[in-house]
Amino acid sequence: MSPYQVLARRYRPQTFADLVGQEGVVRTLRNAVLAGQVHHAYVFSGPRGVGKTTAARVLAKALNCEQGPTPDPCGECVPCREIADGTSMDVLEIDAASNRGIDSVRELREVARVLPVRDRFRVFILDEAHQLTGEAFNALLKILEEPPAHVVFVLASTEKHKFPATVLSRCQQLDFRPLPTALIAQRLREVAEREGFVLEEPAAQRLARASQGSLRDGLSLLDQVRAFAGAGPVNDQVVTEVLGLPPVEVLCALWRALCQGQASEALALLAERERQGDDLILLYHELMELLRVLVLATSNPETPWPYPAELQEELLASSAQLGLPNLLRMLSLAVQGRELLAAAPSPGLGVMVAVGKLTLWPRLQRVEALLAGGEVPLPAAALPEQREGGKVGASSPAEQFLEAVASELGATLAARLRSACQMKVAQDELELVLRGAPNATLKAVQEALPRLEELARAQGVASRVRLVVAEAEPTLMERVTADPRVQAVLQVFGGKVVKVEEGR
Ligand SMILES: [Zn+2]
Repeated sequence: MSPYQVLARRYRPQTFADLVGQEGVVRTLRNAVLAGQVHHAYVFSGPRGVGKTTAARVLAKALNCEQGPTPDPCGECVPCREIADGTSMDVLEIDAASNRGIDSVRELREVARVLPVRDRFRVFILDEAHQLTGEAFNALLKILEEPPAHVVFVLASTEKHKFPATVLSRCQQLDFRPLPTALIAQRLREVAEREGFVLEEPAAQRLARASQGSLRDGLSLLDQVRAFAGAGPVNDQVVTEVLGLPPVEVLCALWRALCQGQASEALALLAERERQGDDLILLYHELMELLRVLVLATSNPETPWPYPAELQEELLASSAQLGLPNLLRMLSLAVQGRELLAAAPSPGLGVMVAVGKLTLWPRLQRVEALLAGGEVPLPAAALPEQREGGKVGASSPAEQFLEAVASELGATLAARLRSACQMKVAQDELELVLRGAPNATLKAVQEALPRLEELARAQGVASRVRLVVAEAEPTLMERVTADPRVQAVLQVFGGKVVKVEEGR
């Protein structure tokens, strides 16, 4: 019996057609081979495990196949087989991480000058090429400036930005993309079928999410869960157990509690998970990952979605409502929270404190604004009543209205109004003055306007709601400093305004 070959190796793509998810790159390379216009140097950039060095090997086969050059190498001839096995004398795969110095590149230069041993082209595949030293890059640049006709360089890298611009400008740059989750899931199912074991659909989805765009990682994970499952089917339970992941439903519930600023809800959830034996630290990391994905997806709709498709709409809608600044605030709180994890007497306690703190983001937002100086718009509740002929009650109509907003339309909206809004009621009209409010707040309030009006009517506050958008008011300090008379004094005597007090 032959030794077990890991799936990632056994199912490594051997042709351009096998390279799933990189259609743009594949088309460019196929056309170049067909037209006989292959460049002397390529940069293949993109995340790990998406097929960069595999594509480089396929390109080498396309160039050196006995039947070639052809975009569809036969895979049977000696050059094709040797390239696939990594034993070809003319196709050299070099790990730049361990050969990063100038001597290695000089050696490379010598080899590059000599004609190929047998095949048409010498192909040099430099993996992790960004690790080369500055000197080595300079030596490489010398070869790229006058490349021998029979040489093709492929510089593969996860960090293209570390390449000198001079090197980049001499290369054709091809960007590899992370693979969509659906595509990885599909490939995993195909492999399972060919290997003759059962991979259930939710398990395939979860593995695909965990591999974060890397098919190679997906296949390695599939190896692990298959070994764990033994003769049984690979189902969601097996995958969750092997990966040690919290169910995605738990993450969603936690997210909802965060959005609403409900500490008690979040803590109850954590307590329940701890009781069930979950690793809360892992849960915390998954939560950070969720926040990261939401930040990315909110700022760029093209971001691949790693969670079940049916959750996308809800999660994206709630993050859009929160707005990017608040999401970033949450993410940064979550990252800071890791220190709490380290400092706590037990991991579970640390996670509880960190998550609890995270739920307080609406309040921290105001404290932050206060600490930053400047005049923070007063919460509506603190404003004097301007309702004509209004009765003096236990709590003001504005406060009551905000409470109604919180319970009917959500705590997030109420928090937004509270932090950025002044309210007054006059002539049966509720005027909401948003002063220097962030765009997300403006948008959320604007969208909620019809519902706010409905609520104002139902509460008997007013029958119309009017939104007034105002610039942030200059602070007293800014007003005084901008005064031409003050500026004249400063110009004559020098110095600066340290403190301004309002005269009474
Ligand atoms: Zn061949």
